Amino acid sequence: MATQFTHTQADRLVGEAFAMRAPLAAWWQSHARDLPWRFGRTTPWGVLVCEVMSQQTQMSRVVPYWEAWMERWPDAAALAGAAKSDVITAWGRLGYPRRALRLQECAKVVADEYDDRLPDDYDRLVALPGIGDYTASAVLSFAFGRRIAVIDTNIRRVLSRAFLGEESLGGSATPAERELARLVLPGDARASVTWNQAIMEVGATVCLPKTPQCDDCPLAAACLFLELGWPHLGQRRTRPRQRFAGTDRQVRGKILHALRELPAGSVLAYDDAAALWEDRVQLDRCIASLDEDGLIEIVDGHALRLPR
Ligand code: SF4
Repeated sequence: MATQFTHTQADRLVGEAFAMRAPLAAWWQSHARDLPWRFGRTTPWGVLVCEVMSQQTQMSRVVPYWEAWMERWPDAAALAGAAKSDVITAWGRLGYPRRALRLQECAKVVADEYDDRLPDDYDRLVALPGIGDYTASAVLSFAFGRRIAVIDTNIRRVLSRAFLGEESLGGSATPAERELARLVLPGDARASVTWNQAIMEVGATVCLPKTPQCDDCPLAAACLFLELGWPHLGQRRTRPRQRFAGTDRQVRGKILHALRELPAGSVLAYDDAAALWEDRVQLDRCIASLDEDGLIEIVDGHALRLPR
């Protein structure tokens, strides 16, 4: 595999990471948010559910959904046997509801092929429906305590700033970012889990995209980005935040919300759906795409309902 850093650079990065470990671990001990899936209080399946839910949604918003979900469907087998309409309804306003159906597909595979126990190796995890590199790595690290680099947007931003003194680019992680994450990861499995969680927490609560709170940061003493005076702060993000108003996402959300509010098993007449959105062409397109995604069913030609 081609390396992105010279021996000298790699040695420097490893040395700096070593120096950051103790202050970062101490900060984690005193500042980690007390989220219900942390500190060994849930199963590997519970960790996976939380990671899927929080992919496009802030963790603090996920908490009530995750708690209700895990109480209702505590394991993969329970979720596998649930009605699709209940799964979509329970997903509520977490957004990107296809994730709910993919999670149920994943649950079916875990229940049927793995005797309701989440596999604990990367290849089998990443082969599960809806599970990508990030989720597989996060589950291995946070649930199974394995030494593996976890790479998400927050971690990339913090590592890139602290070690390279520059903003992380948008889009997929670069080979250099992946190598950096692997290089600075502690060699000891237990320390690597704390490192992953703490760096991610720094990214979520302190090293914010536009307003890094360096005065409160455990990495400040060695952070190159701070030393250089925040070069090009926030300017290297290539994907601007997508607007929401007027998009198909908004229309699809309105339709699903109306269906969730109906008594179980009820249908939404097309005229009632049409009252939700003026642009009939866009409305029809969204109904068709929800149907195609398996999130709704069209009955009697026009009426809508959640799938059974
Ligand atoms: S010192 Fe500032 S820029 Fe560096 S990692 Fe911490 S919050 Fe981010």
